Amino acid sequence: MKCYTHNDEAVVTCTCGNGLCAECAGQYPVCQTCAELNNKQHLEALKKSIVRTLLIAAVGLVIGNIMSGDVVFSLQLTWTLLGVYWGWTLVKPLLFATVVGGFIWGINATMTGFLLIFFSVLLGLVLGPFLLARQVYLYQRQKKNIATIKSLGTYSFQ
Ligand SMILES: [Zn+2]
Ligand SMILES: [Zn+2]
Repeated sequence: MKCYTHNDEAVVTCTCGNGLCAECAGQYPVCQTCAELNNKQHLEALKKSIVRTLLIAAVGLVIGNIMSGDVVFSLQLTWTLLGVYWGWTLVKPLLFATVVGGFIWGINATMTGFLLIFFSVLLGLVLGPFLLARQVYLYQRQKKNIATIKSLGTYSFQ
C-alpha cells in the first residue's frame, strides 16, 4: 500500500484505512482527517461540560431566587448543585470499585450509595471551581491547537 499523501510505501494503516508512510506516521499513526476529527470531538466534549456547568448554575440561581429571593441562598444552592455535578464526574470512575468494595466489605448498597454521594458532593464543593477553570483552559488550548494544526497542515494530539 502507498501513503495516502506521498508516493512512498506505507508502514502503518490509520483506523480509517489510509496508509501512512514513515514520515506521515510520525509520533501518531493517524491521518490528517482522523486527527482533525479526533481533535474536534475532544473540543466538543470539553464544550459540553462547560455548557452543562453554566446550565446548572443558571438553574440553581433561578430556583434559589424563586425559593427564597435571597442572593446568598441562591448562590449556596448553585454552589451545591455544581458540587454535585463536578463531584459526580470525579467519583463516577470509582463507582464500580466502590460497589464491589461495598459488597466485599458487607456494606449494604444504600450505605455505599450514600457514602459515594456524600464524598462526591464534598469533593465537588471544594474542587468544582478548579475543575471548571481547567476545563475552560483546556477548551481554549484545544481551540488554538486546532487552528494551529489547520494552518500548518500537520497534526498533533493534546
Ligand atoms: Zn506520507
Ligand atoms: Zn484516518
